[in-house]
Amino acid sequence: MYKKLICYDDILSTLKTGKRVIYIDNSTIITPEAKEAISRFKIELRRRIMRKPIIAGNWKMHKTLKEAEELANGIRDSAGNLQDREIVLCPPFTALLTVKNAVSSSNIKVGAQDMFWEDEGAYTGEVSGKMLMDIGCEYVIIGHSERRKYFGENDQTVNKKVKKALDTGLTPIVCVGETLEEREKGITMSVVRKQVLDGLKEIEKEKAKNIVIAYEPVWAIGTGKTATPEQAQEVHAYIRKLLGEIWDNEIAENIRILYGGSIKPENIKDLMKEPDIDGGLVGGASLKADSFLKIIFYDE
Ligand code: PEP
Repeated sequence: MYKKLICYDDILSTLKTGKRVIYIDNSTIITPEAKEAISRFKIELRRRIMRKPIIAGNWKMHKTLKEAEELANGIRDSAGNLQDREIVLCPPFTALLTVKNAVSSSNIKVGAQDMFWEDEGAYTGEVSGKMLMDIGCEYVIIGHSERRKYFGENDQTVNKKVKKALDTGLTPIVCVGETLEEREKGITMSVVRKQVLDGLKEIEKEKAKNIVIAYEPVWAIGTGKTATPEQAQEVHAYIRKLLGEIWDNEIAENIRILYGGSIKPENIKDLMKEPDIDGGLVGGASLKADSFLKIIFYDE
């Protein structure tokens, strides 16, 4: 559990869940009654590492130029000056430049939904990282489950793209996550383990800190079913442990891990309370300024 104000009732709720850990940060206030209960019930206070949250909107194959501009303007007008969180808009390739121009005088960043691993050449239909950088993109989503499902992407293509994105100066948002069948078989962790280890293979430590991971259970994407905060936290903590094994704990503590899968204004707040959830990759609810803004301002 993570809260800014911890009172006696919070201790009781923590005990009910069977957990004995409470996360705190520098601004956490603990009431005297809660302090007494913490020592009586031997609850561990663990310091939450503060990573800058990212709220990214994946617009998928939606929005004409006019619609994209309107949506970007609406988000910029209300959230363009935020500094304590990063807002990333990922429109389709055709609208990238329009959206970039719309948000250019704000803090909002722009990301693509995919890229190829070569700079240029005879690769009909592809777009390179170099081209994305050229129009001011800073992020790129890689290995989204829809690309894995419909366009034959796998951990090897993901690995090539992640390496190229990092070499080009883009921040990759690397998507991993299990299908419903895999979750029901109880193999979620081994599926995610393989995706993380193979997708992030042979990346030097100095570049690794620029990676962002999105845990997106496939059964939660576009279905209206969200993982519970506990389900998501369990996988996020596991991914962070894996990152520590690949590189080291310092890198693992600094890499941001986003949750994705039917995020809505109603569920983002509880997800963001979990210590290893550092933001969200939002599909459907990012297509309207109103709902995306409610997600961006999840803590108000
Ligand atoms: C996504 O596209 O990455 C996604 C999580 O979609 P949705 O929020 O619609 O489930």
